[in-house]
Amino acid sequence: MTLALPTPRQSVQVPAVVGAALRVPLATGGHIEYANLDHAASAPCLRGVQDAVDELLPWYASVHRGAGFASQVSTKVYERARDVLRKFVGARSRDAVVFTRNTTDSLNLLARSLPKGTSVVLFDTEHHAALLPWKGPWIRRIQTPASAADAVVALDNALVSAPAGPRLVVVTGASNVTGELWPVDELAAVARKHGARVALDAAQLAPHRAVDIKAWDVDYVVLSGHKLYAPFGAGALVGRADWLQAADPYLVGGGATKQVVNYGDHLGVAWSAVPERHEAGSPNVVGVHALAAACEVLSANWSDIEAHEISLLRRLREGLRSVPGLSELSLFDGPRVGVVSFTVEGHDAGLIAAALSAEYGIGVRDGAFCAHIATRRLLAKCGSTEQQALRASLGLGSTAEHVDRLVDALRTLVTVGP
Ligand code: PLP
Repeated sequence: MTLALPTPRQSVQVPAVVGAALRVPLATGGHIEYANLDHAASAPCLRGVQDAVDELLPWYASVHRGAGFASQVSTKVYERARDVLRKFVGARSRDAVVFTRNTTDSLNLLARSLPKGTSVVLFDTEHHAALLPWKGPWIRRIQTPASAADAVVALDNALVSAPAGPRLVVVTGASNVTGELWPVDELAAVARKHGARVALDAAQLAPHRAVDIKAWDVDYVVLSGHKLYAPFGAGALVGRADWLQAADPYLVGGGATKQVVNYGDHLGVAWSAVPERHEAGSPNVVGVHALAAACEVLSANWSDIEAHEISLLRRLREGLRSVPGLSELSLFDGPRVGVVSFTVEGHDAGLIAAALSAEYGIGVRDGAFCAHIATRRLLAKCGSTEQQALRASLGLGSTAEHVDRLVDALRTLVTVGP
């Protein structure tokens, strides 16, 4: 993974999002263009995604379940999306692509599919979706150290003491709290040295940077459509098929079965092969099509997307530094995607977020970002007694005016109070 950030460029053209100039009411009266600085929670829909969905809507029907023309169209669209996802994450040709609801669903599916006795190693600052699903006799949650280099050493040390047998390392590509990039390829090399597989949580990385699991030697990658500029309801787990194939279905029902027979005292069930094995129920063909369309748009525009983000991120961080009492949260003080969390000394995060929305039409996130350990530790690290922080996250709908409005509003709120 390339840790260096791209050089800023003057003129960039990023893909358009739906609702880019939405106007929202202000508590003080009137309306203002919405400044959505909460892309890390969910990103707005791309225009290209909207067009793709519009095209499918008249045709969608049940996938894999009918000979009718609309069913054939939907099945084709659904299966094509697997190829798009495989390409989007740089997967190996034999990797399985299982469609899920989101990253949380994907990680729970993987956790349920681990061979018996699999040791699991991860860092304790992960998003709860990556922190919580693992069960088994040996789970090591490493306290995230102060630098990315130390994280690589800490992983090495943890794996030395892992029991023999299957091993899995779970890492994030970019922190949802600080946006910082993790050294995925270096961590994967250490994991490989100890015979461990690697699962990459790309929920925050994939909307910002090209993912290449083959090049990084990662075994599984998980992501969510709603963070990738597609609507809610579709995500994916892409990776090695063998553990998924050996596991019982995650959900049971139609689609996951090849055959069911009534033997009187019990049912005989032959489960389908991966990926259908873990996709019981009528698949979300519209969601998956939207996800695939988003992947195609992003893949065709990485250079402009990165350049746009990098210049806004620089503007945002410089601006935030000018706000009295503001401290930025940081794990490693390393390169990051367009996500910045911060605390303002003596000011409640929830009140500030509410005032930003009501008085300035700005949407940011406040709280502990479903990463309580990370947020509290990083708040303490910058000397704050707060339990909650604020997070501004950039994306394709972000503009310099949004960033400047946030910085100006924070300066005012800090000076006169919300
Ligand atoms: N992992 C990371 C790093 C995230 O930021 C998130 C969501 O914020 C998730 C996992 C969970 O994603 P979802 O809620 O789409 O399942």
